[in-house]
Amino acid sequence: MATSKTKKSDASKVQLWKREPGWERLGEGEEAILEGYCADYIDFLSTTKTERRVHSQLVELAKKRGFQDLDEVNRAGKKLKAGDCVYRAIDGKTVLLTRIGKTPLAEGINLVGGHADCPRLDLKPYPLYQDEELVLLDTHYYGGIKHYQWLTMPLAIYGVIIRRDGTKVEVAIGDAEDDPVFCITDILPHLDVDQSKKTMREGIAAEKLNVVCGSRPVSKDEDDKDVRDKAKLNILRLLKKTYGIEEEDFASAELEVVPAGKARELGFDRSMILGYGQDDRICSYAAARAVLDYNDIPERTMGALIVDKEEIGSYGRTGMDSTFLANSIAELVAACDKTYSDLTVRRCLEHTKMLSADVGTCADPDYKGVNSDGNMGRLNCGLQVNKYDGGGGKGGASDASAEFMAEVRKAFNDNGVIWQACELGKPGVGGGGTIAMYMARLGIQVVDCGVGLMCMHAPWEIAGKLDAYMAYKGYMAFMVKA
Ligand code: MN
Ligand code: MN
Repeated sequence: MATSKTKKSDASKVQLWKREPGWERLGEGEEAILEGYCADYIDFLSTTKTERRVHSQLVELAKKRGFQDLDEVNRAGKKLKAGDCVYRAIDGKTVLLTRIGKTPLAEGINLVGGHADCPRLDLKPYPLYQDEELVLLDTHYYGGIKHYQWLTMPLAIYGVIIRRDGTKVEVAIGDAEDDPVFCITDILPHLDVDQSKKTMREGIAAEKLNVVCGSRPVSKDEDDKDVRDKAKLNILRLLKKTYGIEEEDFASAELEVVPAGKARELGFDRSMILGYGQDDRICSYAAARAVLDYNDIPERTMGALIVDKEEIGSYGRTGMDSTFLANSIAELVAACDKTYSDLTVRRCLEHTKMLSADVGTCADPDYKGVNSDGNMGRLNCGLQVNKYDGGGGKGGASDASAEFMAEVRKAFNDNGVIWQACELGKPGVGGGGTIAMYMARLGIQVVDCGVGLMCMHAPWEIAGKLDAYMAYKGYMAFMVKA
């Protein structure tokens, strides 16, 4: 990313490292490739709004490209060789895609890991109730959201319901052309004297994030005299007819309320993307695409790990703070090596290099007060590398070593990747974490590297197209060359 050339004879001349938009530095014909990639990504964003849908889409793409199920390979006692491709999945939510390389697994793999869960509103176990004339769905928010951003906008519902008999029904309503949508109300400005005196956090309580889903009572001729909430009864009858479910089935369901509508190009110049859940599908998609698209046998095994539960602390068996990755490496060793050895698994983990592919932030002209001035990410200035995250005093950061930063930097510079080094914001104004520290716990070399967003965690987040494409290019360079 150096900008001025230094003549050997002129020892006093220095190279400046500028943070600037990357368009002029794209290679010959690269802008067309960038546009093609972003069009695919926008489609992906529009159709995979939950971790389950991301997962099933990635597994489907992998199968189409000849990836085998690693667990089936081991059950059948088959052996893998360089060039073979496998995936390993758990609970329909977390997946590892790998392309086996030439070097032994004991030397480690090159891994890029992102997450597929996004901030949203989950339905509670008893979600359905009637108040006044309206039928509503009670929600418990998932991840860090600003409550007020979710009001008075069209919403969709996705998820699964497991019926009493164990059968599963999938729900996807609000995004098809003739689907109805859902909505959370807000008070009109004419009557908001009390509300407007409160802080933004207190103004809309989490308990007020109730989703309007009906208002029509059961008709007179099917009226159940004993039931007070006739509109709720009507909704229950509709749900039984459509999905074959009873009210108790909500207890064994995962239903997620997300913004309705497609991701779109943003701006007169179409240089940006507006979409729900770009944290972290913008990085997850890039990582998965790199493993799926590479069409040669890599030196080191390359892998994309797309996990769940990052937004609520990486807990749970589908989160990064689980045994999934270590178990998957063990399965890989069992499938690749003549004899399985626990020592090989440990060696593999300790020699694995990884990018924790999660989003960063970009300087917002309206909120300059939170900027870490010269160290703030800038939109369309390239893929971001964050040596550390966390809050003030680097609290909670895994803090990558200078040596590993140098390896990542070299892989990017040698392969035409436009990138920038950043931190989240100025020390003390807040902070955040990623999956990096859980990888580091396994002995893995890891650094945070992802796309900077504007209005992260809002229902509609903004990303730069150049940055989105550089994630794909950068992850590919790292996996193949680092
Ligand atoms: Mn994230
Ligand atoms: Mn997040």
